[in-house]
Amino acid sequence: GAALRQAKALTDSVCPYCGVGCQVRIHVHAGRVLRTEGLDGPSNRRRLCVKGRFGLDYVHHPERLTRPLVRLPDAPKDPDRLDGARTWFREADWDEALARAAGGLAALRARHGGGALAGFGSAKGSNEEAYLFQKLVRLGFGSHNVDHCTRLCHASSVAALLEGIGSGAVSNQIEEVLESEVLFLIGANPAANHPVAATFLRNAARAGATLIVADPRRTPLARDARLVLQFRPGSDVALLDALLHVIIHEEDLVDHDFVRARVDGFEALAAAVAPCTPERMAALCDVPADTLRAVARTYARARRAMILWGMGVSQHTHGTDNVRALIALALVTGQIGRRGTGLHPLRGQNNVQGASDAGLIPMMLPGYAPVADAEARVRFERLWGARLAAEPGLTVVEILDAAARGEIRGMYIVGENPAMSDPNLAHAREGLARLDHLVVQDLFLTETAALADVVLPASAHLEKLGSYTNTDRRVQLGRPALPLPGEARQDLWIITEMGRRLGLPWTHRGAAEVYDEMRAAIPALAGIPWRRLEREGAVTYPCPREDHPGHGVLFADGFPLPGGRARLVPATHRGPAEPPDRAYPWTLLTGRLLEHWHTGAMTRRAAVLDALEPEPVAFLHPEDLAALGLAPGAAVTVATRRGRVTARARPDPGLRRGEIFMPFCYREAAANLLTLDALDPWGRIPEFKCCAAALAPAGRA
Ligand code: SF4
Repeated sequence: GAALRQAKALTDSVCPYCGVGCQVRIHVHAGRVLRTEGLDGPSNRRRLCVKGRFGLDYVHHPERLTRPLVRLPDAPKDPDRLDGARTWFREADWDEALARAAGGLAALRARHGGGALAGFGSAKGSNEEAYLFQKLVRLGFGSHNVDHCTRLCHASSVAALLEGIGSGAVSNQIEEVLESEVLFLIGANPAANHPVAATFLRNAARAGATLIVADPRRTPLARDARLVLQFRPGSDVALLDALLHVIIHEEDLVDHDFVRARVDGFEALAAAVAPCTPERMAALCDVPADTLRAVARTYARARRAMILWGMGVSQHTHGTDNVRALIALALVTGQIGRRGTGLHPLRGQNNVQGASDAGLIPMMLPGYAPVADAEARVRFERLWGARLAAEPGLTVVEILDAAARGEIRGMYIVGENPAMSDPNLAHAREGLARLDHLVVQDLFLTETAALADVVLPASAHLEKLGSYTNTDRRVQLGRPALPLPGEARQDLWIITEMGRRLGLPWTHRGAAEVYDEMRAAIPALAGIPWRRLEREGAVTYPCPREDHPGHGVLFADGFPLPGGRARLVPATHRGPAEPPDRAYPWTLLTGRLLEHWHTGAMTRRAAVLDALEPEPVAFLHPEDLAALGLAPGAAVTVATRRGRVTARARPDPGLRRGEIFMPFCYREAAANLLTLDALDPWGRIPEFKCCAAALAPAGRA
């Protein structure tokens, strides 16, 4: 601590923001981040985006929590007055805070059973923290009510991938785009959300690869694309079924040998897409039939073609169907199992892949062992020396629904901010406020922490040692560059202390020890012991042996499903859950900005990033703006059936007429007050990407 506070030091670590996983050198002087530089890591090759370069000073922000807080006896839990929340708390020492935090949960467990408790872990924390936290919920609470933001991100992708090809992670790594002949990017805006990956895609396109970009919004990479499909929001399945129709029924571009040898369900898929002619589907997705044919031909005929997608695909009530159709495209054309081919869901958070692998999901134990599988449960009962509940737990939105009904009564939330990130926020906040006991562990008094009974000051990424798994299945080491401020504590220590007070026989262990236990539970990590991570800094899984480089390409010989065969599952166009209508004639899409990360808890406290994008914005087509008689920068009120917010209008010619795009990072105009909490039936993911809205100049709404 003291030595670190004085020293001028260089520490090599990984960026805390997105799933690209850039390796970064942190220059520290007198305990503060001076600057950063991109290292020659396998995922970034010395590149960094504005967040990695200028966005790390949030750790020093004056609002950083440095002492535990406990709620004052008569303080309100008022979701409408979160800005004044600091006065609702007093400081406490750790003994008192932990005793209250764990005591409240233990009392609820005794009175109502473990099913009345739930935990949200974090995709921002390390693998070790995720592993320990899910174990705390499963053993300490006695239920599987544990989830994290993967539910709001790629849960539908994972559901479809596990069903279709037996593995929820990417089949191929980003660097392989430089070897692809065709790149099909759909429902993703990497220039904002995976900026360094976007530079690899741009390099590939400029070196001759054919880039196809499909998105309701024309995003920056469209400039490098040969084909751009600006389709109607929510019509993804119609678009993709048209491509399958052309490949199977019009031009026979099917890789029959591949399908015969390795794929089941072809006949059913062919029958399902038989009526999906480009002409019929064009009417639904608003893309010309000939463009659909050109895309089908270009993708299917390529020697190596890769599909990459983001939350434009996954965050729909038909998100799982969208991904089923993408999987079908790759399987019927044999575009998988080789370098430069495959399926790549661009993972959002720096460790959302790792947190999912570590079991931070209600239906899966670590390594995707299903809770419903009795054999898997027995394996973990032996490993952990304790009984496990047989029923899978509830998911993020289901937990907050149950809280609003009074069925979930206590929660422990580490590093997530559902009071900003969940759909239909008024309802989600009501659920959080209604809890009998809420413990939040975080860096700041977030909108979620404001509703807590006890707030525990946590460690930032740059203050701790841990492993993180990026979108490429690459496990990388994050190293501490800074001392902890004040009385903030390591998250592993806090989770352990909470576990002890909930009756678990735990002693505090460092990241290496926790990692080794996790590795014993996850076969894909067999060849990546901690000492190898320390030595090499980054290793790809699955990795069978310590002398193995790790499999960058999956499915070269078969799929991890019965008989080694993949499974085609047909999808039929259903459209959005809440299409525009007379009362709400606009279509609202939500997402992120380059400069701001998710709910803004970190980036809005990073000086350069917040100066670049300081206030709530709503993007509109310039002609829509003109038709409303508004100048750029005018205040507009956007309303849906769930709420209304006011933001500054910004022209974006990349939108279709009638669409509004809003980032969800602004607490003063939280876009998720507007979004819809209708769920995909398989992935249980909400429809953030499409709902009906009304719009008017502020003051006239
Ligand atoms: Fe960080 Fe992602 Fe930017 Fe890389 S691309 S610097 S990992 S935010």
